[in-house]
Amino acid sequence: MRSIEVDVVVIGGGIAGLWTLSMLCKAGYKAILLEHDRIGQGQTLYSQGIIHGGLKYALGGMLSSEAEAIADMPDLWRSCLQGKGPVDLQGTKILSEHHYMWSDRSLAARMTTFFGSKMLRGRIESVEGSDRPELLQSSHFKGSVYRLNDLVLDVPSLLQQLMEQHKSCIFKTSDLNILYETDDQLRTRSIILTPQHLEPIRIQPYWMVLTAGKGNQSIMNSLGIQQPTMQLRPLHMVLMRQAGLPPFYAHCIGTSSKPRITITSHPDPERGMLWYLGGDLAEQGVERDPMLQIDMAQRELRHLFPWLDISHAEWKTLRIDRAEAAQEQLLKPDNAFATLKGNVIIAWPTKLALAPDLGERVLELLAEKQFKPTAPAGEFDLPLPHPGLGTTLQELM
Ligand SMILES: Cc1cc2nc3c(=O)[nH]c(=O)nc-3n(C[C@H](O)[C@H](O)[C@H](O)COP(=O)(O)OP(=O)(O)OC[C@H]3O[C@@H](n4cnc5c(N)ncnc54)[C@H](O)[C@@H]3O)c2cc1C
Repeated sequence: MRSIEVDVVVIGGGIAGLWTLSMLCKAGYKAILLEHDRIGQGQTLYSQGIIHGGLKYALGGMLSSEAEAIADMPDLWRSCLQGKGPVDLQGTKILSEHHYMWSDRSLAARMTTFFGSKMLRGRIESVEGSDRPELLQSSHFKGSVYRLNDLVLDVPSLLQQLMEQHKSCIFKTSDLNILYETDDQLRTRSIILTPQHLEPIRIQPYWMVLTAGKGNQSIMNSLGIQQPTMQLRPLHMVLMRQAGLPPFYAHCIGTSSKPRITITSHPDPERGMLWYLGGDLAEQGVERDPMLQIDMAQRELRHLFPWLDISHAEWKTLRIDRAEAAQEQLLKPDNAFATLKGNVIIAWPTKLALAPDLGERVLELLAEKQFKPTAPAGEFDLPLPHPGLGTTLQELM
């Protein structure tokens, strides 16, 4: 059987795996990534692509520690987009340089008091007239609008960039032909891949990083790792497509501590603009059947934008779980999560925006163990295919 030794094997090719791989390669580690299906085919491709600095969590009235920890992310991603950060994202398409928050007239006074507070100055600003998103420049709109320091990325192009940079060390496997061999110290000694009609390959990693999202749980089960446990928080998102819809990237602020609805726009040059609707609509809509959820979304949009004609729109819903480290009462974890068991790092970024935080934590764990790159990375000549990109939102519609 053919054997190769690597410093780190990363399992799972969503944003967490790709970002971690990129940071490992940059640090000189000999690393490979194994993806069992297609790149981003989990939460990442169905995320809204908002790289946010946590201000939406401030809606409860006070900035939490989470809001502080995530605050640096938009600037860090911007430096990566300019080729100056820890990961090179030059070439990634930016859908919007800003994300916005808006509320109707009844909440405008509350918003002014809150967002005008000293604590938030410099991270959010009130915008008027032509500085507002096109949709909210209508004379029918009477609320207030704030521009956040957040940006919105085209996730397929983000993944494509990362995938192309590291193609030679990203391989496709399938659950059926992968076997993990562990010892009684929970150390993964080898991963045996059996490609169809080919000789098996034994990969011997010093370290393994699990970034398989929802898939982490079954891999942990195979490895006999009982802690940490994973939680799933479901969403029922809504997709709406109609030619001529304006681009719109914003959270609508209601009376609760979460955005009432969050809208992002994903252009499809051939079939018109796609709006992707999340926020409380998606969280509260988990129990609704798709028809009822679409009906709810239509009512929300007609109520919020009575001047917008959506009579020709096509609709679809998408159910998807967010996978994270388990928290008490299914709360959202505060930061990216990475913990070491044996020689396995189990990781969930919690947010797309927090992928840099995750990459940093993985490198810190290796540094704590004083693990240095063992050999120059070089190319991997394995008889395994490279995975393609998963289905995009536009392709789903
Ligand atoms: C609807 C929605 C909207 C969101 N919007 C935002 C947002 O706007 N901003 C933000 O910051 N965050 C957002 N998030 C959160 C964000 O998408 C996730 O935190 C992030 O994408 C998780 O990335 P991941 O790489 O850990 O997991 P995933 O994207 O789920 O990737 C896991 C990968 O592992 C692979 N895999 C699974 N099992 C195995 C296995 N056994 N072997 C090998 N590979 C395996 C999968 O095929 C997949 O490619 C959103 C989440 C959802 C669901």
